[in-house]
Amino acid sequence: MSELSDLYQEVILDHGKRPRNFGKLESATHRAEGRNPLCGDHLVLEARLDGDRVAEARFVGDGCAISKASASVMTGLVKGKTAAEVDAMFQVFHRLVTEGPGAVPDLEALGKLAVFGGVHEFPTRVKCASLAWHTLRAALAGGGTTSTE
Ligand code: ZN
Repeated sequence: MSELSDLYQEVILDHGKRPRNFGKLESATHRAEGRNPLCGDHLVLEARLDGDRVAEARFVGDGCAISKASASVMTGLVKGKTAAEVDAMFQVFHRLVTEGPGAVPDLEALGKLAVFGGVHEFPTRVKCASLAWHTLRAALAGGGTTSTE
């Protein structure tokens, strides 16, 4: 795990240890389960939609600090967003973690997501950082189980 020392920036550590929006969501309208067998990350993501917008999103599960921190930050950011807006955010986030901060023109618009920029140096961690996003998109698309494999 020493290769990750550069990744453990303050936000990731903090969210990994004390994830926000962690726990079951009563009155969830959408739900999906996500697994990243490569690392052992597993989470269940629940969302409640109000019209076509995400009113609330929460998650339960266990995994490495990056997977939990990503789910923690994401569930906060997607509130008030439509599925299309979530998709658009994911595209930018995915570019950030696969190609690095230099590939994202408007880094400031990503807010806290920008801390995941260091992930691109560690390709095996991209799936950890992306798991929550894949799972949320699966939930909004009708649910089921998704896997990074
Ligand atoms: Zn992981």
